[in-house]
Amino acid sequence: MRKTLKFLVSSRIMILSVLGVSLYLAIAEYHLSLWYVLVAGVGLGVVFGKVFCRWVCPMGLIMEMLMGLSPDGKIRQMYQYHKVGCPIAWISGFLNKHSIFRIKLNEDTCKNCGICDRKCYIVAMEPTNYSLYKPSAIKPGDSYTCSKCLECVASCPNGSLTYKI
Ligand code: SF4
Ligand code: SF4
Repeated sequence: MRKTLKFLVSSRIMILSVLGVSLYLAIAEYHLSLWYVLVAGVGLGVVFGKVFCRWVCPMGLIMEMLMGLSPDGKIRQMYQYHKVGCPIAWISGFLNKHSIFRIKLNEDTCKNCGICDRKCYIVAMEPTNYSLYKPSAIKPGDSYTCSKCLECVASCPNGSLTYKI
C-alpha cells in the first residue's frame, strides 16, 4: 500500500497530465457539461478531500506548468493558487476536514524529524501555525489549502503519516 502511494505521488504530474488533457478534451470537443465536472469534483472531495486541483484539473495542470517556469516563487504561487481556487476547490477544500480518506499521524512512531513539514507548501508559508507532526500546531492536511499532493505522507521515512479511512 505504501509503495503504491509513493509510486502515485512520484507519478502525479503524469497522472495530472493524462487526466487534465482528457478532461479538457471531453469539455471542449465533446461538450461535457461543467455540472458533471462539478458533481464529480465534489464527489471526489467527499471521499478523498481536495484532490481534484492537483490530480485531475486542466487549469491545475496549466498552473503547475507556469509555476515550473519560475521555481523561485513556486511555493508562494502554489499556496496562493490553492487558496483562491474555484467552486470545486472551495467545496472540496472545506471537505478536507470531513472527507472519508484523511492524513493521519501516528504519534507513537513519529521521530519528530520534520521531513514531512519540509515537503509541505502550507507549512513553508506559515511555519508558526502549521505542522504535520507538532502537537500544538494546526494540521495542514485538514486545512482548506491542502491539495492532497501527499508529498508529506510519501516522504515520512518510517510510515508515521498515512492517508486512509
Ligand atoms: S498533502 Fe501534505 S504536503 Fe501536500 S499540501 Fe497537504 S499537508 Fe501539505
Ligand atoms: S517525517 Fe514522519 S517521522 Fe518525521 S516528523 Fe514527519 S511524521 Fe514524524
